[in-house]
Amino acid sequence: MSILVREVTKHFGPQKALDNVSFEVKTGEIVGFLGPNGAGKSTLMKIITGYIPASSGEVFVNDLDVETNISEVKRQIGYLPENNPLYPEMYVREYLGFVASIYNNPGPKKTQIDNIIEVTGLIPEQNKKIGSLSKGYRQRVGLAQSLIHNPAVLILDEATTGLDPNQIVEIRNLIREAGKEKTILLSTHIMQEVEAICDRVIIIDKGVIVANEEKSNIYSVISQPKQIITIEFDNPIEKSALEEINNVKTVKQINDKSWLIEAEGEEDIRPALFSFAVSNKIMVLALQKQENNLEEVFRRLTSG
Ligand code: ADP
Ligand code: MG
Repeated sequence: MSILVREVTKHFGPQKALDNVSFEVKTGEIVGFLGPNGAGKSTLMKIITGYIPASSGEVFVNDLDVETNISEVKRQIGYLPENNPLYPEMYVREYLGFVASIYNNPGPKKTQIDNIIEVTGLIPEQNKKIGSLSKGYRQRVGLAQSLIHNPAVLILDEATTGLDPNQIVEIRNLIREAGKEKTILLSTHIMQEVEAICDRVIIIDKGVIVANEEKSNIYSVISQPKQIITIEFDNPIEKSALEEINNVKTVKQINDKSWLIEAEGEEDIRPALFSFAVSNKIMVLALQKQENNLEEVFRRLTSG
């Protein structure tokens, strides 16, 4: 077990930011920690990495109790904090050398720094000041500092927030690459991030875990499989005629020829809609099935 969080509660004064949170992350897993802003993601990550203590409960990283083995735990964890605090006046290579020297005794190996600069695509920027880099490159420096001591476990707090779409793809690729040999817990408020990178998703809302599922199982958290279809015919029809189709649950009119249909059951409703059109001598001009995606699961489970 790489990360074990057991009954962790965290109070900030009267506020309960985490309420009896428990979960495990197995070795080699990439787990997405998903929740709206203020849900408690960063707080838990700071507790796992030993930067703040829990009010109660326990955390183990590679079977080490974080509370009593803090320096060893920090060696085994790479941590990219939210907002990626860096030293803007330092040069990229200088900064990474500085971070490496914190872990190494007597000093960092040059090959170690060369290697991490290459892996994170920082070769062209290595002699620039951090403050002069684009947000995407700063994020690479953040990832580089988290990886420099070759930790077995990576904790990434909102690693792609604030990046443009191209930068997001690049950072996700770096995370996926790192995930081939490491255990990763990454927080995000973006559903697609989980779909793109993770094996499993833990959803937190107001300090409480509301789902913990393999990515492929998360849809079963919604009790009824549901299909949402928008359909456009070439002629107006009666609403009641659509409502009579087997498995159709609700029908909403979008305009005189377009409809939003919700259907229940495992069976694909689309063939029935086409037969309906044929037998009523009308044509289907457009049909679109809305996928049941993680975003919908997330909205159903959280208030956010
Ligand atoms: P998330 O990362 O999911 O957006 P956070 O863990 O940052 O959420 O915050 C969870 C809750 O705890 C929020 O309501 C936040 O205001 C509160 N909180 C976080 N850190 C502190 C702190 N140092 N002092 C007081 N309240 C805090
Ligand atoms: Mg946060």
